[in-house]
Amino acid sequence: MERGAVIRKEARDLRVPPHWDDYAAECRTFRWDDERARLDGLPGGGLNIAHEAVDRHASGALRDRVALRFVSRSAPALELSYAELARQTNRFANVLRSLGVGQGDRLFVLAGRVPELYIAVLGALKNGTVVTPMFSAFGPEPIATRINIGAGAVLVTTDLLYRRKIKAMRAQMPTLRHVLLVAEDGGTTNEPDTQDLATLMRAASDQFSTVATGAQDPALLHFTSGTTGTPKGAIHVHGAVVAHQATGRYALDLHDEDRYWCTADPGWVTGTSYGIIAPLLLGVTSLIDREEFDAERWYTLLEQERITVWYTAPTAIRMLMKAGTALARTHRFPDLRFVASVGEPLNPEAVWWGLEALGLPIHDNWWQTETGGIMIANTPAFDIKPGSMGRPLPGIEACIVEHLEAEGEPARVRVVEQPDVEGELALRAGWPSMFRGYLNNEARYRKCFAGAHQELYLTGDLARRDADGYYWFVGRADDVIKSAGHLIGPFEVESALMEHPAVAEAGVIGKPDPVVGEVVKAFVSLKDGYTADESLRLDILGHARKRLGAAVAPKEIAFLPTLPRTRSGKIMRRLLKARELGLPEGDTSTLEGGA
Ligand code: AMP
Repeated sequence: MERGAVIRKEARDLRVPPHWDDYAAECRTFRWDDERARLDGLPGGGLNIAHEAVDRHASGALRDRVALRFVSRSAPALELSYAELARQTNRFANVLRSLGVGQGDRLFVLAGRVPELYIAVLGALKNGTVVTPMFSAFGPEPIATRINIGAGAVLVTTDLLYRRKIKAMRAQMPTLRHVLLVAEDGGTTNEPDTQDLATLMRAASDQFSTVATGAQDPALLHFTSGTTGTPKGAIHVHGAVVAHQATGRYALDLHDEDRYWCTADPGWVTGTSYGIIAPLLLGVTSLIDREEFDAERWYTLLEQERITVWYTAPTAIRMLMKAGTALARTHRFPDLRFVASVGEPLNPEAVWWGLEALGLPIHDNWWQTETGGIMIANTPAFDIKPGSMGRPLPGIEACIVEHLEAEGEPARVRVVEQPDVEGELALRAGWPSMFRGYLNNEARYRKCFAGAHQELYLTGDLARRDADGYYWFVGRADDVIKSAGHLIGPFEVESALMEHPAVAEAGVIGKPDPVVGEVVKAFVSLKDGYTADESLRLDILGHARKRLGAAVAPKEIAFLPTLPRTRSGKIMRRLLKARELGLPEGDTSTLEGGA
């Protein structure tokens, strides 16, 4: 296909008739109540994510369909049907009940993509227990910070991760009443102050009556990073399931005969909303690969697992591109019919590469932890403009706003009606998967809203909308770093660096990188008596890696005699970044000792 500004969609190119084909008509007639009506609801009233995702199918026509199919290099594939998943999640809910863990208590999960993680998440939801999945590549510090902010009562993790990341810090997590361990070798765990999950599961009944949660009851607590302070716990409710189902249809075009693969780790919001919940809601079979990225392996899985819908991320796509289109061409993907990507800007090149390598364009979509579900998307229903995030889904009203004052609370903004103007991306509040607050931080939550009735949610992203209603990502409005699709708060990294005895001050930025989007780069100044040399640099890097884990730690450290600060004492990361990239330094009037 010739490269132009638009990739046209022809009905004949689509192997399965999509759930929708008329953007304007669907947006006009869409009602969230109609989406709600597609769900079951709990027998005695109420709404529960796990009931809709699992039990509804387990007692219906899809009971024997494979819900989750786990593959790894070292073990044969393991499959759980919807009926089996219902039984296992019932057992886990009973385990929690037997431990005295109830509705509203918080459960944290820290594991690779093992079956027990999925069972724990869904079982806890049945019990009304609020779930926080954490990324297994986090180091001890981010883990302890999150468990403490969330007052976690239960942790499900593996014996290896426990020994490596939790054990030494356990005393610093006073709310943690129970640690349930999965043996990585499939055996029985035997660690003091913990319990073996498999043993508890065997003893538990596989019958459970889902707790009568309501649409507004909390279900998930997802941590996200900001520019300052500790990570924020975004609270999501069971009612979000309405949006998970709708977006699974509209943005991912999931049909119940699909074999679907979401490559996101469940430690991040995409891996929960679209790696666990949405595909189950729509009755599809999900592939879960327990291994890390490997280009040849991924192509083989796409081909041999006969994946039909694939949801992945720009970093992965860029790594596949790096491995060469020739490698892709050694495989054939006759079953693949829809490919989507999220988490970072997707370069137009990557969209076109999809057509060359996979025979399909890649559909970029946009959302964030706070929105709980996909908001803006390229879909099967309309043409793609490569480089654009697409258009707001039915039920979602997006706009670009201009701030009328630089600072100020509440924010005063004006909605920009004209196209092609850069501003902050905002969404009209009220979609079902919208976060309901930041845990213990009402003031920060309120700061996210503007408008006469606080009806506009400010996303923190800069974007523009073109005359056809397509949105184009411009950048973040803050200093938050996006590395390999993961949001990293500079403050969390700086705090860990400051714990090193040699470090006097630290400033952390995202440095553009052709594959992972941004890498974390730290600037540090040293205390008197320390010499800035290679061995100290490696020592600080090692310290950061140990505290923060590989996913969050800086990849580069540079020494500076002092760091630029504002007169009020804040490190000017913007200036560090401009200097690093050789860009204009902009307004430096607040620089300490500056103009
Ligand atoms: P998270 O809350 O970790 O999911 O990160 C959300 C942030 O990732 C957004 O606010 C954006 O800055 C970025 N992001 C997500 N999707 C896209 C996309 N399609 N294009 C550009 N940036 C994106």
